[in-house]
Amino acid sequence: MAYDPDNIFAKILRGEIPCNKVHEDDYTLAFHDIGPQAPVHVLVIPKGAYVSMNDFTANARDVEIGAFFRAVGKVAEMVGVTEDGWRMIANTGANGGQEVPHLHVHICGGRKLGRMIPQQ
Ligand code: AMP
Repeated sequence: MAYDPDNIFAKILRGEIPCNKVHEDDYTLAFHDIGPQAPVHVLVIPKGAYVSMNDFTANARDVEIGAFFRAVGKVAEMVGVTEDGWRMIANTGANGGQEVPHLHVHICGGRKLGRMIPQQ
């Protein structure tokens, strides 16, 4: 899947629409999810144009990948979920329920999160 530069997170990265920022460094941006599914729900995205985790791990430079995962851990600390526990989610593609085609991981916490995957 080709990267769509008009996706909503690309617009946030270009400053065309606002976000509630938690953290930013040279390679990553983290901001509160607009529709939180848990008391703490933050998204971490790379600044590079990557559709998905597969695209990112195949094509990003090591420095981008390292910065991204360090940012995930740092942001989880910043938002105060590490002591009680939290969940990192990377919805990928159609079956994964990915809605925004720019790689993002969800950091969710602040309560017990229940089953990892709902039973059908
Ligand atoms: P996913 O289903 O994994 O692609 O998740 C996309 C997430 O992006 C959802 O949890 C949305 O609530 C969130 N989202 C969509 N638009 C925005 C926005 N403008 N600012 C913050 N979060 C957003």
